[in-house]
Amino acid sequence: MRGVVQGVGFRPFVYRLAHHYHLNGRVRNTSGSVDIEVEGAGKAVRNFLSDLKDKAPPVARIENIKATFHSPRGFTEFQIEPSLSREGQYQLVSPDIATCADCQKEIFSHSDRRSGYPFTNCTNCGPRFTIIEDIPYDRPKTTMRKFKMCPQCQREYDDPLNRRFHAQPNACPDCGPSLELVDSQGKAVASQDVIKKAGKLLKEGKILAVKGLGGFQLACDATSDQAIKTLRSRKRRPSKPLAVMIATIKEIEKHCLLSGEEKKLLESPQCPIVLLRWKQGSGIAGAVAPGLKYLGVMLPYTPLHHLLLKEAGLPLVMTSGNLSEEPIAGDNDEALRRLKGIADYFLLHNRDIYARYDDSVYMIEEGQPRALRRARGYAPYPVFLPFKAKQILACGAGDKNTFCLTRDEHAFLSQHIGDMENEETLEHFENTIELYKKLFRVEPEIIAYDLHPEYLATKYALEAGASASLKLVPVQHHHAHIASCLAENGVKDKVIGVALDGTGYGSDGTLWGGEFLIADYESFKRVGHFEYVPLPGGAAAIKKPYRMALSYLYTLLGEDFSLEGLPLAGLKAAEIEVIKKQLKRKINSPLTSSAGRLFDAVSALAGVRGEIDYEAQAAIELEMLAPDEPDKIKIKAGAYPFSIEDEGGMGVVKLRELLLGIVDDIRNKVPAPEMSLKFHHTVAEIVADMCKLIAKESNIKRVGLSGGVFQNRLLLKLAAAALKREGFEVLTHRLVPANDGGISLGQAVVANFADI
Ligand SMILES: [Zn+2]
Ligand SMILES: [Zn+2]
Repeated sequence: MRGVVQGVGFRPFVYRLAHHYHLNGRVRNTSGSVDIEVEGAGKAVRNFLSDLKDKAPPVARIENIKATFHSPRGFTEFQIEPSLSREGQYQLVSPDIATCADCQKEIFSHSDRRSGYPFTNCTNCGPRFTIIEDIPYDRPKTTMRKFKMCPQCQREYDDPLNRRFHAQPNACPDCGPSLELVDSQGKAVASQDVIKKAGKLLKEGKILAVKGLGGFQLACDATSDQAIKTLRSRKRRPSKPLAVMIATIKEIEKHCLLSGEEKKLLESPQCPIVLLRWKQGSGIAGAVAPGLKYLGVMLPYTPLHHLLLKEAGLPLVMTSGNLSEEPIAGDNDEALRRLKGIADYFLLHNRDIYARYDDSVYMIEEGQPRALRRARGYAPYPVFLPFKAKQILACGAGDKNTFCLTRDEHAFLSQHIGDMENEETLEHFENTIELYKKLFRVEPEIIAYDLHPEYLATKYALEAGASASLKLVPVQHHHAHIASCLAENGVKDKVIGVALDGTGYGSDGTLWGGEFLIADYESFKRVGHFEYVPLPGGAAAIKKPYRMALSYLYTLLGEDFSLEGLPLAGLKAAEIEVIKKQLKRKINSPLTSSAGRLFDAVSALAGVRGEIDYEAQAAIELEMLAPDEPDKIKIKAGAYPFSIEDEGGMGVVKLRELLLGIVDDIRNKVPAPEMSLKFHHTVAEIVADMCKLIAKESNIKRVGLSGGVFQNRLLLKLAAAALKREGFEVLTHRLVPANDGGISLGQAVVANFADI
């Protein structure tokens, strides 16, 4: 059997199953698979085989079972045999798993020997990937090796019928890791019960750095505006939404609306942060996610979290322990150094984190779980490819970086690494690549990278490729987006690819971002795009969407256009003059066809947001304004006019009329929510109309939607519906993020088929 079948209680399951059917034989782990031999009556063997699949432990993931029949060897019993290491072979590694119901029962039971023990785990739950240094997965190859099991734990570990049989992180209060509470100077805080004390500090509004599963988290009272304001100012994160951890589903329902699918996802062994509809007047402080109608919520996923939530008796903000833009802090000394000045206290422990891991973020949209950030609980489980891949390293993009290593039918997409903007993140990236290469025995022959010459990941690729004389394959950003969408959907044929995002380096050196391609893994042809406008001041235009709004106005409506009656009229005349000059003389104003920047411009134009302090804030706040149940309101809202012109075989979306329509609406005092809805409908119509034109020429009736703009739930819904109405089959992202977090998968797939 292959798949995630080690470290998940698989062998004891096989053992019990063999006993149940009175079969003799053996089971053992190898570096590549779990091998089983059974002997017995034909019917019993067949039942055994079907139960293997159907009744496997909850966190096992079976990739395939290869079964052959042999003549009996005469086994006299069923045995679990020692692991067998096989050269060059590899196996899938289990992601970390949220605390199971049995372990939860034990920590909350007063009589259990693990009562209140924050490191309780079993074969069905607990840390895996974050503590594994190498395979086969055995305790000496994990960060648990320094803890010698006490006789009682050892007995559990050795007993095939025990839930802790070969649970590598098995531990108890007598022999396992322990907690320590220290102040911001690193001085121990004396207390009888560390968790109780920590809970008390949280209730007092203090900020705690908590060593979690994959790194440090910053925790504070999610109902206290004051605590959150303090955290925000110390973390230098004025308004980016923060995740909240809430003790139970019942408690969550007090604050959020919950669908059946959302509940299922929250309670899954992966236990991600799920974006939920926030109830008006919920006790969660508005400062947690200013201006948003969705709240990122998760259940506790380690015993420590369960115990802490119970002691605090509050919903807690639980956000990555870092300063803005740095990777999550991993070990105690690092946390004390880097989070000094942010946390008042540190809840530390002595189980080392080998691989750092942020919380994953998901949403349910169109009835499907969709990854927005893929990390804890998901990585390093691979994406399965519809072909057998070469050994490739794809280095990803700049923001929200992930990398991807391929081998056989596996694409090992890394956990979220972060924005590649500094040394710390680059180091995290390099170390994690080495870990994946080691765990999955990949020696890349090809390195794939983005065309953008300034991405740190691109620079890394060029250096690493040159020093090891590997084949280098540059991959255009939006081609990679579409290829990643195709790969996760197992589609190999040509599609119409709609890639809408912030910006990505185009083949012609301009900044693309509103792109219509005909693409498959091998190649792409750009057949349409949003019309170009300058990005006045480059990066400054991204931070200040009002600059983008002015660029659209002066470029498309003429430099004499009057701002009268618009919120933009409030800008300083001197700054407007500077921007006008930049546009006119083309100073630091690269051209872009970005759809993300169009959303920014409309947001600023409508007076929603002119300056941002986190990525896509202007577009997100514009989306949030649109009323719910848009289907009902559509009749009233309609769409703005636009046109598509053929420019030498390229369909160009002309936005002049759209802009005039919005300006008119503003001057006529149409409320912003209505404009927002109308604008979203317009972009969905642009997508559908352009695809119709492309389909007429190409006869392709399948569309792939990718790029960060499709994390906009309203747009995703409207665009998919508009396309389906026109008879298109629509492919969307579920397993990997639509944003740049999914780019590396697409790069790897394109590189695999590149002509080199
Ligand atoms: Zn458990
Ligand atoms: Zn013990």
